[in-house]
Amino acid sequence: APQAGLPLLQNLNPEQLAAVTLPAGNALILAGAGSGKTRVLTTRIAWLLQTGQVSPGGILAVTFTNKAAKEMMTRLAAMLPVNVRGMWIGTFHGLCNRFLRAHWKLAGLPSTFQILDTQDQLSAIKRLMKQFNVDDERFPAKQTQWFIAGAKEDGLRPRDIEARSEDDRKKIELYQLYEEQCQREGVVDFGELMLRSYELLRDNDPVREHYQRRFRHILIDEFQDTNRLQYAWIKMLSGAIVEGTFHPGGNSVIAVGDDDQSIYAFRGARVGNMADFVREFDVRQQIKLEQNYRSYSNILDSANALIGHNTKRLGKNLRTEQGPGEPVRVYESTSDFAEAQWMVDEIRQLARDGIDRSEMAVLYRSNAQSRVIETALFNASVPYRVYGGLRFFERAEIKHALAYLRLLENKDDDTSFLRVVNFPPRGIGARSIEQLQDAARARGQSLHDAVGLLGGKAGSNLSAFVAKIDVLREQTQGISLREIIELVLDHSGLIEHYKADREGADRLENLDELVNAAESFVTQEGFGRDAVALPVDELRQSAASQGIDTSRPLLDIPLADLAPDADTGETLSPLAAFLTHAALESGDNQAKAGQDAVQLMTVHAAKGLEFDCVFITGMEEGLFPHENSMSDRDSLEEERRLMYVAITRARKRLYLSHSQTRMLHGQTRYNLKSRFFDELPDSALKWLTPKNQGFGQFGGGMTSAGRAGGSSGSRFGSGYGGGNRAPETYGSGAVPIQKAAPAHGLRISQQVFHNKFGEGTVTALEGSGDDARAQIKFSRHGIKWLALSVAKLTPV
Ligand code: ATP
Ligand code: MG
Repeated sequence: APQAGLPLLQNLNPEQLAAVTLPAGNALILAGAGSGKTRVLTTRIAWLLQTGQVSPGGILAVTFTNKAAKEMMTRLAAMLPVNVRGMWIGTFHGLCNRFLRAHWKLAGLPSTFQILDTQDQLSAIKRLMKQFNVDDERFPAKQTQWFIAGAKEDGLRPRDIEARSEDDRKKIELYQLYEEQCQREGVVDFGELMLRSYELLRDNDPVREHYQRRFRHILIDEFQDTNRLQYAWIKMLSGAIVEGTFHPGGNSVIAVGDDDQSIYAFRGARVGNMADFVREFDVRQQIKLEQNYRSYSNILDSANALIGHNTKRLGKNLRTEQGPGEPVRVYESTSDFAEAQWMVDEIRQLARDGIDRSEMAVLYRSNAQSRVIETALFNASVPYRVYGGLRFFERAEIKHALAYLRLLENKDDDTSFLRVVNFPPRGIGARSIEQLQDAARARGQSLHDAVGLLGGKAGSNLSAFVAKIDVLREQTQGISLREIIELVLDHSGLIEHYKADREGADRLENLDELVNAAESFVTQEGFGRDAVALPVDELRQSAASQGIDTSRPLLDIPLADLAPDADTGETLSPLAAFLTHAALESGDNQAKAGQDAVQLMTVHAAKGLEFDCVFITGMEEGLFPHENSMSDRDSLEEERRLMYVAITRARKRLYLSHSQTRMLHGQTRYNLKSRFFDELPDSALKWLTPKNQGFGQFGGGMTSAGRAGGSSGSRFGSGYGGGNRAPETYGSGAVPIQKAAPAHGLRISQQVFHNKFGEGTVTALEGSGDDARAQIKFSRHGIKWLALSVAKLTPV
């Protein structure tokens, strides 16, 4: 290719180069972890811009997290002088939000619409269910939430869903009522952001045609985790499918993915989108990248061997030219507490060896595991940062502050109203609030507007609250975002409230941090950039500055002509923009900025990232693989993909640890080490603790043959029947049964009763004396391991 000499194309291997410089058209890049998929996408954008094939406004790039979007923008900005902020690079949610902000009127939303996060959504649903006297035993709010979210992920409105039972009918009705409530209150949830923009594109020809003309190049990272609706949205924007058939004049869509890293099936992700894409978009170009640039071969071999146990794979290879590197270190501890302690020691040693803490990641399968780790790090004064989990913006005190701020923007936001109407306490009781809700419902008004309808003491307290909000709104006109927040914190009584609270110091600090967050949002981010439509003039200038021919129209039709309500230049108020940011941002950068900190996150949150050193903790049966997934093969395969993602995050050093006991949900559990250990190549592992320590004492049934020697040469160990046996041979119990006669009198398949978990069946027994434990399959609580010296089990 004539452009092969361009500096930005150096350091690409031939397959990567081919992918970066593909001619316009649809293509799928299917490749394993660390093979440079994301790098190819980013470089392709740079290449398209630099060779003048497209203007910055003509690119739509979808990433999986905000962090990834920022990363992409940073890399792009480093490659060429372009104003990346103006470009449409972001997550599906972020991009849809931006789109709806520009077309709020056409989308049927108020200009100040606010975003409900998952927590808010749940409380909105609970409120609704209470209002309509829905039996929450029969229809748990969480389940309703899943139903609604699931429907939206499939692009379905209540009227599109067919009721097959009485329960279905009720759920659909709740969905309908929930929608009406959201509409009345001017709020949208995450699924709605996506669905609303999809529907607007589908139903509004000029808008759709405009965007179809504009986004000549659509690039999607982590395509394996897109859901049905996201795929439909891409289809809509590409213009490639007209009335169900492929239309060659459409935009170029490049999808990049790895079926082995599909880990969001529980949220509606469909790996099948890859096959659909190839078929529906008439994809002729499929590129495989087979060289891994991230990890040493001990790490990569481990990942490859593990994922080799999955049966549902598209199949691809991954090799590295880096040497074996260090072995994968395996550590067994006696308790979760000891595990965390060991890790902290190891982390300190790594830090002494000169490794940045930000290059060390601690990964876990479930959020609940982070507490013990955090405590250990905290006690040892090791700085750390937790990603995901309880995000900064989800903490109670922050939520309270944001609720006041949201009411300033949108008085009809009843969720926010209810959150703070009596917080800090101002003598407004549950009864008064119920009366208010009744009155509001009867009149079809928001709670704010209905306050005047109530008399008596309740009425006057409520009126005082509303007056406070209205006065605050007046007072905050024309002052800076920082001043607005300070004023609100002060006048709402939040500061005073937490000052009086003996345990409030942390919360006050967080409220302070909110002010800082707002400040840095305004100064660094350039508020509203994420939330408004494309600043056309800026783009034109930046395109011109890099020698792109701007005599060609950046947009074929000016946005303003086409949709008069689209605010092309006008930005949101700083407050509105900040509130949007608070709802969409994962809060990642809220931890004390600039400090070199160990990175803590779930495996899900680690997708796409890389670190020099990675700890994967809690490698135990029931935890990883997760107990909910052990009984069916598809979920077990998803757990294995999750483990594959975890392993492949490491560049140089990988630790796997498991613990014999662990406190979980208030009880000590005795855990077997994860079956995944048996799927890793012995030659790549180094056991820091004796390989067989621990479970031998429980009778040893499971840890004998094939693994005792450690050097038996069996690549995968044979503890579970050896070799490459399909995973389902493990069965759901996963633990071979001990044959020696136990002293506790229980036997396999006996029916037992437990005070907390109810009735169950004994599925496995291990150990004796104080170490005796039983695996019970409870009819309502699933499979659990219980220590017989502690658990009160009665035979039935
Ligand atoms: P994942 O599947 O985990 O998302 P990926 O396929 O997106 O991984 P990247 O993150 O793009 O992989 O790349 C992995 C690492 O390899 C990065 O540090 C990247 O800079 C580096 N890399 C990719 N290609 C090359 C190359 N040709 N030469 C040197 N380094 C490369
Ligand atoms: Mg990637």
